[in-house]
Amino acid sequence: MKIGVLALQGDVREHRAALSECGASPIEVRTTQDLSGLDALVLPGGESTTLSLLLGSSGLWDAIQERLRDGMPAFGTCAGMILLAKEISDGRADQQPFAAIDIGVRRNGYGRQLDSFETDLAVEGLDAPMHAVFIRAPVVERTGDGVEVLATQSGDPVVCRQGAVLVSSFHPELSGDGRLHNLFIQGV
Ligand code: GLN
Repeated sequence: MKIGVLALQGDVREHRAALSECGASPIEVRTTQDLSGLDALVLPGGESTTLSLLLGSSGLWDAIQERLRDGMPAFGTCAGMILLAKEISDGRADQQPFAAIDIGVRRNGYGRQLDSFETDLAVEGLDAPMHAVFIRAPVVERTGDGVEVLATQSGDPVVCRQGAVLVSSFHPELSGDGRLHNLFIQGV
């Protein structure tokens, strides 16, 4: 299975490693040509405002939007979740979301004192809790009717799925636990 990893900025290498461990073939996506033939796309953690700018200047924004509209499965972690959301609060004024999943997120929503933290979370579909690394993570402030919440942290959704689109506020790619990547691949 050919899974693209958006490779403009962020923790691309870690996602590649997690996908390889799951038996998929990760492909780095930097240009519109890199998208052809992909079965799915991973949008990594990083800085969503920078990613938005680079997506625009590379022409990838339009190309990815088209593939998402055609139903390409996507997995976004942290900044990747922000890009896939329908509404972004505290983003750049010109930051355009893909609106691939019906959620509203607030960038850096966990506040300064909780900028970064780690915890163990029960995730629906996984046999045992998962270690979750949150780094200036977005808070999910709204979920639409069609969205499944697979995990929560202090009452807020942190893993959500709608159809073929999976998102997490934290970084499963940083904890050496490939089970969420595996769950995504199962659905592709
Ligand atoms: N706060 C970052 C943003 O707004 C996301 C942080 C992350 O991906 N670790 O894009």
